[in-house]
Amino acid sequence: MMTDAFIGLGSNLEDPAAQLARAVTALATLPNTVFVAQSPFYASRPVGPQDQPDFVNGAVWLRTSLTPHALLDHLQSIEHRHGRERLRHWGPRTLDLDLLIFGDQTIADDRLTMPHKELPNRDFALQPLLDLNPDLTLPDGRPIKALREHCPDNHLRKLPPANRDPFSPT
Ligand code: ATP
Ligand code: CA
Ligand code: CA
Repeated sequence: MMTDAFIGLGSNLEDPAAQLARAVTALATLPNTVFVAQSPFYASRPVGPQDQPDFVNGAVWLRTSLTPHALLDHLQSIEHRHGRERLRHWGPRTLDLDLLIFGDQTIADDRLTMPHKELPNRDFALQPLLDLNPDLTLPDGRPIKALREHCPDNHLRKLPPANRDPFSPT
């Protein structure tokens, strides 16, 4: 059975838009998974510590027969290949891949909270989801559109397509 999965991408180190473009390519070639679409990319102010560069954020829509935990394994191995180091909580990073929504599943275990626990508070995750599917809802029925209207403002700025096309000349 194939499940719709939505991945949030973020980076604020070492050419963030290029990090995201490479991550999209890696996500598009995961086993047992079909790539549906990618969102535009956005610049956003960091949450938490403010003494770090702005982030670039986006989202990818996949359809997969992987389990959520197997998908998380793949996300963490892609992060690792991008040289991600865990230095401080909510600090700068080359790549962060969060599993935002996995079908209508709700999960709360040691490794995985689904939907992502901070999703309702993050315009930089909600807006790319809306771009991918304006009718998307959480498993509890709340529309992403309504959450977006009521969440804190992280000063989102949509980036031009040249900054998100992995195949465009630099
Ligand atoms: P935040 O979770 O607030 O976005 P973060 O992305 O900086 O913070 P990480 O250090 O990347 O946090 O991840 C910490 C742990 O969160 C991971 O090891 C993972 O097991 C767990 N986790 C729980 N739910 C999820 C999820 N939905 N997607 C990704 N990781 C998750
Ligand atoms: Ca995150
Ligand atoms: Ca994460």
